[in-house]
Amino acid sequence: PLVLGIETSCDETGVALVRGHELLIDSVASSMDEHARFGGIIPEIASRAHLEAMGPTLRRALEGAQVELGEIDAIAVTAGPGLVGPLTVGASAAKALAVGLGKPLYGVNHVIGHAAVDELVDGPFPERVMALVVSGGHSSLLLVDDIVTGITELGSTLDDAAGEAFDKVGRLLGLPYPGGPHIDRLAREGDPEAIRFPRGLTAAKDQAAHAYDFSFSGLKTAVARWVEARQDSGQEIPLTDVAASFAAAVADVLTAKTIAACQRHDVSTLVIGGGFSANSQLREMAAERCAAAGIDLRIPPIRYCTDNGAMIAALGAAVVRRGLPPSSLDLPVDSSMPLTQVLL
Ligand code: ATP
Ligand code: MG
Ligand code: FE
Repeated sequence: PLVLGIETSCDETGVALVRGHELLIDSVASSMDEHARFGGIIPEIASRAHLEAMGPTLRRALEGAQVELGEIDAIAVTAGPGLVGPLTVGASAAKALAVGLGKPLYGVNHVIGHAAVDELVDGPFPERVMALVVSGGHSSLLLVDDIVTGITELGSTLDDAAGEAFDKVGRLLGLPYPGGPHIDRLAREGDPEAIRFPRGLTAAKDQAAHAYDFSFSGLKTAVARWVEARQDSGQEIPLTDVAASFAAAVADVLTAKTIAACQRHDVSTLVIGGGFSANSQLREMAAERCAAAGIDLRIPPIRYCTDNGAMIAALGAAVVRRGLPPSSLDLPVDSSMPLTQVLL
């Protein structure tokens, strides 16, 4: 079946077409340029941008894949989590298409989509995989027995998500928004061992209750204190070393806990997804440590890590394959959709 996927949970308008496990086309527009000067996503601006971009992005996808609207068998759309206004624009477009074409509508989970998209790149998942989804809003460790019906959330962040921590540290270092990619770039030039920043929730006392949970707000505060102390004494801030040491602390905790979870649950395939999986320090450390632990590591190329329509079409296709009943045409959006709920 040919599945159309629509993503609008944040600032990217994504439309993609997937047939089985094959991605035919992925078309994305972003309103990030309009938000950058505010230092964060402005939901009202994002909603309006989705409204303007939806028609052209859909048309680009159909024309690029040389597909007629009538050939589409099912429509998948992000139902949550995300920003209510943006989600509503995508859901409205998806409902209009479903009604107009007389085809089923599936409202799916954005965060699970960040893991599901890897099936388009690296092939169908083996029986059991571990998924680490790290993005601007989430840092979650998921045991995946089935991408649609078998998600167990082993842990998540107690405060900031990894991408959020990068963006906040970016702000305090005076970098443009979003800071994540800028810190990544600086960190490649610096010494990751220059400053020993704290590794949240890794102390023995945290093992029982929070073995697979993350916390990055203490780290962010430690970076702020370190930078302030330097400034107060009139010294220059070694930006590349701060970035490298901070990025190393985040990558260290993420990979150490994830690999421990793989070993504990006897899982030999790890999928990393979400916008923060674009991070080169995480990619490198995960590759090294997975190789050492005999874990098969799957991380999609960067364009499928950040928000896109392919992830939603991929998860929609998985839902269709399992023959689940479609969502209602009055499908609501759920800004805080739980990760264990794949279909709304
Ligand atoms: P969610 O998926 O939780 O709803 P989101 O959709 O806002 O959140 P994504 O678009 O998946 O998040 O990811 C964006 C985040 O990824 C931002 O915080 C951004 O700074 C971060 N990011 C992107 N590239 C990099 C990079 N190379 N290094 C570090 N962080 C990065
Ligand atoms: Mg985005
Ligand atoms: Fe996302």
